[in-house]
Amino acid sequence: MTTDCIFCKIVAGEAKAEVVYQDDLVTAFRDTHPVGPTHILIVPNQHITAVSQAEAQHESALGRLFLAARKIAEMEQIQQGGYRLIVNTGPNGGQTVFHLHMHLIGGKRMRYPMG
Ligand code: AMP
Ligand code: ZN
Repeated sequence: MTTDCIFCKIVAGEAKAEVVYQDDLVTAFRDTHPVGPTHILIVPNQHITAVSQAEAQHESALGRLFLAARKIAEMEQIQQGGYRLIVNTGPNGGQTVFHLHMHLIGGKRMRYPMG
């Protein structure tokens, strides 16, 4: 755990969040500024700053992000309509919280690219 990281605190249950899913490798909670009817962030329980810092030892957690996304999409009943998974990386990627996270966004029709 990185003590000044808000997502580490959420994983540890030390900061408030609406957690929708947690297992041994990842935690998922609702984004505080949703851009769609469903907007959930899925994060590795272990602090990884960004994709640019990911290493072989993180492979299971990174893979689990996708499987958790699939599971949560089913829980949210958006699997049929489809959804978007986004991982912003670094300043040009639009990353603002430096604990790697996957956005799961659904419940509306989206276009690509966006901004
Ligand atoms: P990114 O731009 O990819 O780094 O996305 C960071 C996301 O985290 C944004 O969509 C924020 O709304 C969201 N966020 C920031 N702090 C929190 C928090 N404490 N709980 C839930 N979502 C948060
Ligand atoms: Zn962290």
